[in-house]
Amino acid sequence: MEASTGVWQAVLGELELTLSRGNFVTWFKNTHLLDYTPLKAIIGVPNVFIKQHMERKYTDLVGDMLAKNGVRPKEVIFEIYSSPSMKRSRSSDDTIVINNDLSMTSVRQKTPKQHSSGVSHKYRQGLNSRYTFENFIVGGSNELAYAACQAIAQAPGEKYNPLFLYGGVGIGKTHLIQAVGNEILKGNPSAHIVYISTEQFIQEFLDAIRFKKNTDFAGYYRSADVLIVDDIQFIAGKEKTQEEFFHTFNALHQANKQIIITSDKPPRDIPTLEERLRSRFNWGMAIDMQIPDFETRCAIVQNKASSHGLELSADVVEFLANLVRSNIRELEGVLNQLLAYCEMRNLEPDMDVAQALLGGAKNRPKHITPRQIIEQTAHFYSVELDDLLSPKRDKEIVIPRQIAMHLLRTELKLSFPKIAQECGRKDHTTAMHSVDKIEKELVIDPQLRQQIVELKGQLYA
Ligand code: ADP
Ligand code: MG
Repeated sequence: MEASTGVWQAVLGELELTLSRGNFVTWFKNTHLLDYTPLKAIIGVPNVFIKQHMERKYTDLVGDMLAKNGVRPKEVIFEIYSSPSMKRSRSSDDTIVINNDLSMTSVRQKTPKQHSSGVSHKYRQGLNSRYTFENFIVGGSNELAYAACQAIAQAPGEKYNPLFLYGGVGIGKTHLIQAVGNEILKGNPSAHIVYISTEQFIQEFLDAIRFKKNTDFAGYYRSADVLIVDDIQFIAGKEKTQEEFFHTFNALHQANKQIIITSDKPPRDIPTLEERLRSRFNWGMAIDMQIPDFETRCAIVQNKASSHGLELSADVVEFLANLVRSNIRELEGVLNQLLAYCEMRNLEPDMDVAQALLGGAKNRPKHITPRQIIEQTAHFYSVELDDLLSPKRDKEIVIPRQIAMHLLRTELKLSFPKIAQECGRKDHTTAMHSVDKIEKELVIDPQLRQQIVELKGQLYA
């Protein structure tokens, strides 16, 4: 089982996308997670030079990335550790792959296996081969985004240009847009796909100005067949970069080259975004990605576990999917944590272990009743409980009532007749209509989404 590799693999995967390629390879090649406890995580690095540099520059970042993946030690420590050898293999498409098979046996003995090394994934033009359409689980929350990305991968530049994907953290935006790049390269290995995080774009732009290499910079991006820019919200307030990006955008768009952009919010909500960029972002298609629902989260957990060669029982899968509701990265983090813990101690990842290890987490699922949902919703919108349960049709009452019905459906999976009954209705079609209406509203109304997030926070507090 290679579950334990999961944590460090996931951290490396994230770092690979966050850092420049040069930095990533220089500092993180041949690194290992040697051990971790709640007190400290020990990262093995090849020499004292790297150790000192890591301590100065990367302690916080590594700590953050570990935390994102479910490991929250009080301290991150770098230790010199020389891995016996490094296996380089060539994959079918001739990209160098460096394996990092850190097994937990080796963690116990602090001697990673012979063929351990550090860089986990294939890079090509900023793409991480781990992100594919095949391992992306499709559900109601992301099917539109998935379909648009598939369409683009089949015919880049023809439809939805630009594609603007937006939504909260850890819900699969980067995965999907990277999948587009990887898919196109599968059919056409010479396609010039450029994936870049906006932070990197800004940094490279500033470097280009500083070192007067502006033309290389501009040329590189403007020669892309597909330009994928992740987390564009970071461009807010960066006027010069916005201007540069505007010209890049125009050059590519005019040449019918595909542009894909993600953001944590829709263009209209990105502060200090130049109007001309804002309007261009709206030229193609903007799709709102939602937090994956319970079934999708279960499927993701199951899929991820089986990619580690493990079948988890349904109760453990559901437990995890309930534990982390809004962020798939965190969900993967708790799964990795569970699997690594079990592997180190040679335990079965069953319900007892899951509960013992993760049950005390602050986002522990709390059993809530239909009544609590209705009361909390009434309270949240400052309407009387009696009014909410009455047939009154005033707008201030109808909307909270519909939201309560929506929550009864999404949180407790009640049937429509049951929802109607809980809300004092006779006819279950009202409940169906309400749930449907709120679902549709959620797609277009970020304020409503925010309210529901807060309301759920109160419910599970
Ligand atoms: P975002 O860019 O929206 O913050 P990511 O694309 O980085 O999120 O996703 C976070 C993690 O969750 C990644 O490891 C990704 O592979 C995984 N993930 C998210 N959604 C899905 C999904 N629908 N199926 C499989 N994995 C997913
Ligand atoms: Mg992302």
